[in-house]
Amino acid sequence: MTDKSLIRRVDWPSSVSRPVATPLQPSVVYASPDPDALDAQYDQNSGYTYAREGHPNADILARKIDMLEGTQDGFVLGSGMGAIGATLLGCLKAGDHVVGGDQLYGRSLRLLTQDLPRLGIETSLADPTDAAAIKAAIQPNTKLILVEVISNPTIRVADMAGIAAVAKETDVLLAVDNTFTTPRLFQPFDHGADIVIHSVTKLLAGHSDATLGYVAAKDPTLNDAIRAANVTWGFTPSPFDCWLAERGLQSFDLRLDKAEANAADLAESLSKCENVSRVLYPTRTDHPDHNRAIALLGGRGGNMVSFELKGGRAAANALTRAVPQIPFAPTLGDVATTLSHPASSSHRGLTAEARMALGISEGFFRVSVGVEETGLVARELASAINALQRNIKVIDEARF
Ligand SMILES: *Cc1c(COP(=O)(O)O)cnc(C)c1O
Repeated sequence: MTDKSLIRRVDWPSSVSRPVATPLQPSVVYASPDPDALDAQYDQNSGYTYAREGHPNADILARKIDMLEGTQDGFVLGSGMGAIGATLLGCLKAGDHVVGGDQLYGRSLRLLTQDLPRLGIETSLADPTDAAAIKAAIQPNTKLILVEVISNPTIRVADMAGIAAVAKETDVLLAVDNTFTTPRLFQPFDHGADIVIHSVTKLLAGHSDATLGYVAAKDPTLNDAIRAANVTWGFTPSPFDCWLAERGLQSFDLRLDKAEANAADLAESLSKCENVSRVLYPTRTDHPDHNRAIALLGGRGGNMVSFELKGGRAAANALTRAVPQIPFAPTLGDVATTLSHPASSSHRGLTAEARMALGISEGFFRVSVGVEETGLVARELASAINALQRNIKVIDEARF
């Protein structure tokens, strides 16, 4: 017999100094001294017991996003959709009704219109740039309004003041998915929101290597109900993802400011390209919601630019092939610029007519601008677009 066992943990080395970088704590379970101590821990909701219920890396990340959103007690979930799912599960019951923006993120629309009805919860969709349309969609059993501030991919800006007034007047909860705007452009709690939601996966984490969400509700009872849904339905996040995201978040403000400057620069360059029929960027005077965008976002435009290329799908294919250094990928918020084509990705489920009604043609692109050195992306995209006619010809010749 031996009293040596490799599976017994040794104590963490003690040191008077402490790490400068955030430690990664992957432990699923936490040992308590005795049952009295465990009881007290549950009663007082203090300390960690089991990682699905909470862990240090999630809490550290949540405190930082709380700081950005001007709140406390927000929490992190395993994805942005987890954040939206837990919010709905925590706030609603069978017989309730939801009003959603008609241009929400695709999976959010699917959750509202296809999954909630199976649970006895109905949804109406309405145009968030028109507060009267949101108001008209409210029913006696409406419990929650879910909107995004900037729509994807057409960059329309919601009438947040009007919607907040409707929510207050009708005593309905207002939940804002602040993923696109980020707290650097817009802080929903200062504009009447009851609940703030993020896909942390995007700009906050910023490096396309962690899938996470965040929720905070102003009312502590509601916040607890959403947190309980997170823990019970198992939407809780991995410590490693939280650790990566907290590391990414350290440069969030620098990344956003640089990406925004590059986006404005790109929008200007695209507007001068003969092969571009339309550029959508909030601070441009030709943007359909320009005045509202300036007032709401404090003169900032964010990192997302959409544009329409002449020449339809053939031109779209030629463009993505002409700039292989800019990943053609259906996401946003990466540290580097990425290019997405809604007609073949987020909006492929719609009919061509429904897409056209939204202004999403085969030549429509959305750019998530990154932090490349000043001028690089604008130069690369504009020169690729200006050379398009030639590229289309080369592709056609290669094919036949
Ligand atoms: C990506 C995204 C989501 C979903 O987030 P995931 O982390 O991918 O689950 C929700 N809302 C918006 C606006 C998004 O862009």
